[in-house]
Amino acid sequence: MSDLPVSPTNELPFDPPLSPVIDLEPLINLAPGRRSDSAIDGIVVSTVNPTSGRAHIMYISENLASLLGFRPDQLLGKAPDVLFAPTTPAEQLDAIAELVEQRQQAVVRLELFHASGAHIPVQASFLEMPAFTGGWPTFLSIYRDLSAGIGEDQLLADQSAMLDALARGHHINDVLNQVAARVEAQVDGGSCWIALADGIGLLEPIVTGSQPAALVDRTLSDLTHSGHWSTPSYFRVVDLQEDLALRLREQDIDSLWVYPIAGPGYQRRGLLAVAHRSRPGPSTNEERVLSHMSRVVAVAVDRNVAESSLAHQALHDPLTQLPNRALIIDRLEQAVARLGRERARLAVLLVDVDRFKSLNDSWGSEVGDEVLIEVSRRLRRSVRLGDTVGRIGGDQFLVLCLANGDGDAEAMAQRVVNAVAAPVAVANGEEVHITGSVGVVLLDEPGQSPAAVISSAETALSSAIDSGRSRYAIFEKGLKQQVVVRHEVEQALHVAITDDELVLHYQPLVEIATGRMVGAEALIRWDRPGHGLLSPAEFIEIAEDTGLIIPLGAWVIDEVCRQLASWPVGTDGLRPHISVNLSARQLGDSSLVSTILSSLDRHGVSTDWIGFEVTESMRVEDVEAASATLKRLAALGCKLSIDDFGIGYATLDYLRRFSMADTIKIDRSFVDGLGQSREDTAIVTASLALASSLGLTVVAEGVETVEQYAKLADLNCEFAQGYLLSKPVHLDEAHDLWARRQLILPPSTISS
Ligand code: C2E
Ligand code: MG
Ligand code: MG
Repeated sequence: MSDLPVSPTNELPFDPPLSPVIDLEPLINLAPGRRSDSAIDGIVVSTVNPTSGRAHIMYISENLASLLGFRPDQLLGKAPDVLFAPTTPAEQLDAIAELVEQRQQAVVRLELFHASGAHIPVQASFLEMPAFTGGWPTFLSIYRDLSAGIGEDQLLADQSAMLDALARGHHINDVLNQVAARVEAQVDGGSCWIALADGIGLLEPIVTGSQPAALVDRTLSDLTHSGHWSTPSYFRVVDLQEDLALRLREQDIDSLWVYPIAGPGYQRRGLLAVAHRSRPGPSTNEERVLSHMSRVVAVAVDRNVAESSLAHQALHDPLTQLPNRALIIDRLEQAVARLGRERARLAVLLVDVDRFKSLNDSWGSEVGDEVLIEVSRRLRRSVRLGDTVGRIGGDQFLVLCLANGDGDAEAMAQRVVNAVAAPVAVANGEEVHITGSVGVVLLDEPGQSPAAVISSAETALSSAIDSGRSRYAIFEKGLKQQVVVRHEVEQALHVAITDDELVLHYQPLVEIATGRMVGAEALIRWDRPGHGLLSPAEFIEIAEDTGLIIPLGAWVIDEVCRQLASWPVGTDGLRPHISVNLSARQLGDSSLVSTILSSLDRHGVSTDWIGFEVTESMRVEDVEAASATLKRLAALGCKLSIDDFGIGYATLDYLRRFSMADTIKIDRSFVDGLGQSREDTAIVTASLALASSLGLTVVAEGVETVEQYAKLADLNCEFAQGYLLSKPVHLDEAHDLWARRQLILPPSTISS
C-alpha cells in the first residue's frame, strides 16, 4: 500500500483523532437505507483540503482498519483511495464523487484492499456530512463486509482451521483440498477446482474435483488465455469452444464460476473455480463463500511462498536475486513440457552483456556487479507479468515468456535489447556504456530438453554477436551451420598466421593532378587452403571479435616494413608511401606502438614511409581509447588517415577528436554517385571544403570512371584510389606499377 506523505501545505486543521471524538451514532443514522439487520463493519470519515483538493482519512474505525490488516493510525492522513483495491475502475470512483457532490448518497459494491494484497468485497455508502472541520468538505463512508456476513462464524472457523493446518506444516495441497471440500459443502451441485500460477504465469491445476485433470487444465488455460481471470467471472459452457463445451457437458457441467486468487500488488496467484451442474452463477451467499475461500487460498499461498524462503536462497542468485541456473532450467523444463496445451508459444531469450569481460577488467568487478544488477532490473522491467527472468551464469540471463506469435517474440526481444542499451550510472559517479545481445528460440511443442533449447539459444546469440552485437537473432535451422562455419574460420585463422597463408596486396594511390602513383594501401588477403583467396570482408570482423586481429595486425605491419625495405627504388630513388589499415581493437591494445617501433627498427624502415588508416565507422567509446595511441603515432611522424570518411555516425565529432590525422579518405559510396547524384556530389564537395579549412589532405576512394576522376580534379581533390587507376595487386605487380609511375593521363588532357 503506498505511503502518501502529508505535505505541510496539506496538513489537517487539527491532529487526526486516534479515537472517535465524534459521536458516531448520529452520523450513522444519517445514512439512509441503513438496514438494521446488517452489521456495519466499518466507518471512514474523510476531509478534503479545499486548497490542494487532496482528500485525507480523518477517522477510520478500528474494526475496518483491522479488517484491512492495519491499525487505524497507519491509515490516518492517507488518501482514502488507498483503501480501495487497485483494480477498482476509475469510472466507479468518479461516479461516486459525482453523486456525493450532488449531495446524494452513493451506495455501491466495491472491493477494499487488504494489507496482504487480497481484495475484500464490501458494500459501501458514501455521503457528504455537514462540514465541521473548519469549512473543509467532509464525507462519511460506511462499509459492510460482504465476505463475512451470513455464515460468518462458519467461514471464520473454516479459515482458522485451514491456516492452522498450514502453520502446522501441512502441505499446501492438503489445505487446498480442504478449501475445495468446504466450497463443495456450501455449493450444492458444484465441483471445486483450484489452480495455481507457476513462475511464468501458467496455471497448474492442483484440485480438480471429480473431473479429469487434463480437462480442467484445458478449460482453465482457455479461459485465462482469453484474459478472464482478473475479476470473478461466470461462464456458460455453451459459450466456450465447441469441442471443449461438449467434453464439459459430458461431465454434466453447465457453467463455470471463476474467482481470481490475488497475491501482493497486482499479482495473480491462481484461480478458484466452481464447475456447476445447472446454475449460471452463485447466490449471494455462495459468492461470499467463494470470495472468502479464494482469500484463504491467497493467504495459504503467500504463507507457502514465505516459508519457502530458504528454498528461495538455494534457488536464487545472491547478486541479482533472480532465479539461478538450477531454477530457471527447471522452469524452462516445466514450460516446455506444457507446450501444446497452450495456444501460445514459448519464447526463450538468452541475453548476454556485450564485452562484459573487458568491462569487468577495465572498471573492476564492483562496477561489473553494479552493471549486472542494473541489467537484471532492466530485464525484469521489460518483461510482462508472468514471464520469468533468471541469471544463467556470469553475464548471461535467460528470459522465458509466452509469445502470441513470431512478431510478439521479436518485439519482446527488441524491447530487451533497447532496455539493456543505456548507460549505467555506477557508484563512483561515472557512466558505463553497455549493450546486450539476445539469442531467441521459439518453441510450440514439447520434447526438447533444456540443454537443447539453451544450445539453440546460444547459437542464435552467437549469430547476434557476429552480426554486430546490441541486437537479437532468432534461432532457425541453418543458423547452426553459419555459426559452425564461423567457428571453423576462427580456428583456421589461428593457423593462417603461423602457416604463412596471409598475403598483402597493394592498391596504388595516385596524385590526381599528375596521374602519377605516389604510394599504395596495403590490403590483406587470406590464401586459405581449399577456399581460394579470401577478401578481408570474409575474416577481418571475425579476427576483430576474437582478438586475433592483434597478431594478424602485427603480421601486416611487419610484412609491410619487410617489403618496403626491399622495394625497388626507381630512377628517382623514391619509395612509395604505404598505408596500413588499423582496426579499433588494435588501437585499444597497449602494445601497438611498441609492435610498430620494433618492426620499423628490425627492417630499417623510417616512420615517414608508412602511414595508418583508421576507419571512421568506429564507435565513439573506442575513439577515446584510440586517440591516445594515435597521438603517439603522430608524434613519431607517421601519417594518419581517417578511412571511409562520411559513413560514420559522428563525423564532425570524430574530426575534432582525431585532430592528429592529416588525411581523410572519402568513402567509395559517395564517390560512386559523383557528378550523377546531387547528394553524393554535395557530400564530396562539402567534405573537400571542410578538409581544406582544417588543412587536411583528401583521398577519394573507389574511383572507377574517368568522369569521377575528372570531376574530382575539377573539385581540386588531391589524391585518388580506385579500380580506374588499379585494383589491389600482388607485390610484383605493385613493383611494376611503381616503376611505371604514370598510371593515368593527367586530367587536364582528358576531355570529359
Ligand atoms: P578500405 O581500407 O576502405 O579499403 C578499400 C577497399 O575498397 C578495398 O577492399 C579495395 O579493394 C576496395 N576498392 C578500392 N577501389 C575500389 C573501386 O574502385 N571499386 C570497388 N568496388 N572497390 C574498391 P578490400 O581489399 O576488400 O578491403 C576491405 C576492407 O578490409 C578495407 O577497407 C579495410 O577496412 C579492411 N582491411 C584490409 N586490409 C586490412 C588490414 O590489413 N588490417 C585491417 N585491420 N583491415 C584491413
Ligand atoms: Mg583503408
Ligand atoms: Mg576505405
